[in-house]
Amino acid sequence: MAVTEKQVLDALSTIADPERGADIVSLGMVSGIAIRDGNVVFSIEVEPERGDKLEPLRKAAERAVDALPGVLSVTAVLTAQTASRSRAAPQADAARPGPLPANRPARGEVPGVGAIIAVASGKGGVGKSTVAANLALGLVTNGLAVGVLDADIYGPSMPRMLGISGRPRSHDGKTLQPMENYGLKVMSMGFLVPEDTPMIWRGPMVMSALQQMLREVEWGKLDIMVVDMPPGTGDAQLTMAQQVPLAGAVIVSTPQDIALLDARKGLNMFRKVDVPVLGIIENMSYFLCPHCGGRSEIFSHGGARREAELLGTEFLGEVPLDLGIRETSDSGRPITISDPDNPHAAVFRRIAARVREKISGESVRRPPPRIVIE
Ligand code: ADP
Repeated sequence: MAVTEKQVLDALSTIADPERGADIVSLGMVSGIAIRDGNVVFSIEVEPERGDKLEPLRKAAERAVDALPGVLSVTAVLTAQTASRSRAAPQADAARPGPLPANRPARGEVPGVGAIIAVASGKGGVGKSTVAANLALGLVTNGLAVGVLDADIYGPSMPRMLGISGRPRSHDGKTLQPMENYGLKVMSMGFLVPEDTPMIWRGPMVMSALQQMLREVEWGKLDIMVVDMPPGTGDAQLTMAQQVPLAGAVIVSTPQDIALLDARKGLNMFRKVDVPVLGIIENMSYFLCPHCGGRSEIFSHGGARREAELLGTEFLGEVPLDLGIRETSDSGRPITISDPDNPHAAVFRRIAARVREKISGESVRRPPPRIVIE
């Protein structure tokens, strides 16, 4: 039998907040319950200063729901409680966005933003951010208004890759202006917290940070927003995939077996939360020698194409391991914009055009919700 919200709430009402002496449901701490095909996600709102201590409570809540019949997976996320968020504001800018209303629907559309796509990878270091930056610029050269949300909160690389420094401003003290370069609007945790600062509010606060960057930034009118996801397929990524109203996801992988195995996990994660996977991009597909122009297939090129076929998703294209790509992305001048005549720039433009095509198709052709008769 399909699990219901009431059953989830009943299970959670057996969990007591040790410091407040009542259960977390009657204390109004539970919000954002989402149930899809037996996969349950919910938030527990806590004061930020208690975030670290409440990990056992989070786990107990997950266990209680997990014990219900029909539950396949449970993800509980600790989020910052609205009332006390201002007290917990860390060292960053005075222009930090204000609190979110507690009952704002997590998966609502973002006004003015046409489609949001995630760029994801099963593991770090495969070039996800490089691809995200070039894909976004490829969309700009395709004539679209594009935003980039750097959701890689633990290791934001968009400021560096897109050559942007400084801090976002706020006109009204509530919403932030995005930063801009190369025709892109960009928001990243990297603008708010200096690179080497330990972020005391990481972990439990990740979701509220993401929601604020999504909804409390003056994005204006965008055709597409590209979200650079944190690498991996853990709880945080799953929750993000669920809490951002994604129109689709692109998976970046290298051709190595291990990376492909991780890419498969990434693909399954998006499928689990009903986000269409637009396809797989093979990065560092083959090596182009900068001296002789010779091509070597050091990572058994072609693995991602085969994997895409096996998994029934589209192979969007291959990008070589190339010194020019590395140098331009690490110096804040991605190849798509700094060397548009380069053949690799053309690859990114082609991938961008295909993604655009698929997005417009997906929004029309998305299957109607399945009706399950039990
Ligand atoms: P991820 O986001 O997956 O951790 P990055 O995009 O940060 O990976 O890339 C990791 C490193 O690899 C960076 O130094 C980047 O410049 C380099 N890199 C990424 N893709 C390529 C490529 N196709 N050719 C050469 N270097 C690349």
